[in-house]
Amino acid sequence: MGLMVMKFGGTSVADAERIRRAARRAIKAKTAGNDVVMVVSAMGKTTDKLISLAEEISESPPQREMDMLLTTGEQVSISLMAMAIDAAGHQAISLTGGQIGLLTDAVHMKARIQKIDADRIRQEFKQGRIVIVAGFQGVDESGEITTLGRGASDTTALALAAVLKAKVCEIYTDVDGIYTTDPRIEEKARKIDKISYDEMLELASLGAGVMHSRAIEFGKKYNVEIHVRSSFTDTKGTIITKEVEQMEDIVVSGAAVKKDLAQFILVGLPNTPGIAANLFAHVARHDVVVDDIIQTVDESGNANTSFTVEHSDLAECKLVMEEVRKEFNAKEVVCIDPVAKVSVVGVGMRSHTGVAQKMFGALAQAQVNINAITTSEIKISCIIDPSDANKALQAIHAAFELDKEPKDA
Ligand code: ASP
Ligand code: MG
Repeated sequence: MGLMVMKFGGTSVADAERIRRAARRAIKAKTAGNDVVMVVSAMGKTTDKLISLAEEISESPPQREMDMLLTTGEQVSISLMAMAIDAAGHQAISLTGGQIGLLTDAVHMKARIQKIDADRIRQEFKQGRIVIVAGFQGVDESGEITTLGRGASDTTALALAAVLKAKVCEIYTDVDGIYTTDPRIEEKARKIDKISYDEMLELASLGAGVMHSRAIEFGKKYNVEIHVRSSFTDTKGTIITKEVEQMEDIVVSGAAVKKDLAQFILVGLPNTPGIAANLFAHVARHDVVVDDIIQTVDESGNANTSFTVEHSDLAECKLVMEEVRKEFNAKEVVCIDPVAKVSVVGVGMRSHTGVAQKMFGALAQAQVNINAITTSEIKISCIIDPSDANKALQAIHAAFELDKEPKDA
């Protein structure tokens, strides 16, 4: 007898019929002899609607109360799911984060999971029940309700799969898997059968928004396979799993573009120890998330430092950079807004040469100018003008033949 963790996102439980459909899937897994945990998101756009409602009431709603409000969304969907299973003649119970002992720290709206006490779930299994857990919520030590951040029902599912030692966690969503790139921009995008945790983590942070990054980290850490698949069909989706040797045969697995970025360039910083540390300490203190950091020294011996931020952090970052400019007596702060970033990702880059050349060649041929380049072991990113973003993505998708089934996989 196995154990299944199945997570259903908002679109997969958006109305009564879809809730029944998800219920039937869980019942099927249960009658096949498995213990089944369902992790469920709020119905459709419920969370967005609750947030707008809060904004109508207050400009800065207390975060504790936001968590009280947002967790109601999942409470609606789990209870309806339990009713659907009951109506189909099977046994189920819905449980909140608090009821399954999902303990978090006390940071409202972006709490982190500290512990899960799976005893309650195991007791329910013994009673023969399908267990339906509210996604994205927990409680802190003093019993206050917390949430784990937008989209974090995935994380609840993977954390449960890890403590219950499930081999696979199924993520049911409105697309049938992970694609080589965004099919809305490149219609030749192809569904990927198998991808490593590390590649998926890179793609998620580069704007391929199917899954919550922390969920992938849990999968990697506890070695739980993740199966991302459609709740509307029975076809196999994409398996996110640990890296195996033949994955390196595929040099590039996916390409992504992010358009909501701005680039800051600090010109003429002193080239002395501690400057970068100090600069990014300012940034961190203001909770600004930066990426693509590049520092170079120019011919006059000064340091120039650039990095990108998401638009949501732009206003805050401008203020911080002004502070920094004064403090270090830098010549100038340049802000290029907006910029885009195209990237290719693949574990095969570790062992293959010529990847950078192929990417830059494709961009050159498409007449796309590159403003900055950053790399990691399994990723190459180029900062470009947003008006070039789609054509750049299409050019590199074609250059790496991502539309074709890989030969050796
Ligand atoms: N309902 C929450 C959200 O919309 C959590 C989730 O769906 O993963 O962010
Ligand atoms: Mg989601």
